[in-house]
Amino acid sequence: MTCIECSRELSYIDHKNAMDTYGVELCARHQSRMDKLMRKKNTPLEAIQLYYGLKQAGVNPMLEWWDGNKSVDIAISRVKLNIEIDTEYHMITHDQAMNDLEEAMHSFKNGFTTIRIPHVLIKHYLKETVNNLLGIIEGLKANIKVI
Ligand SMILES: [Zn+2]
Repeated sequence: MTCIECSRELSYIDHKNAMDTYGVELCARHQSRMDKLMRKKNTPLEAIQLYYGLKQAGVNPMLEWWDGNKSVDIAISRVKLNIEIDTEYHMITHDQAMNDLEEAMHSFKNGFTTIRIPHVLIKHYLKETVNNLLGIIEGLKANIKVI
């Protein structure tokens, strides 16, 4: 049991807290860093879970990446992929939907692909979500090579 960020040995209680909250091994220091991020930037818990899920799958994701206009939940810069976690997708208004579409338009213009993932998918099917994202990353990589 060591911290995924700093490889520090974890106590039982740190291990339990981290597994209960984030589903990965994090020391107290790195847990409080994530707690702070959630408070300050309103980062959804599922974004952090997905971030570590991708990291464990060998991807190099960035959490709360600033794209020049807004903070993206997770970005994978190598393939210009932005991932946004939808926490209230079932209550979406037409204003929000139009906003999302405009944001998608801006990121496509900059060569970025944006995908939105409902938070419940990460909560209940993290592994399958990560596997699908790995496929998307692979597809994007192949397209970059063609260009
Ligand atoms: Zn740590």
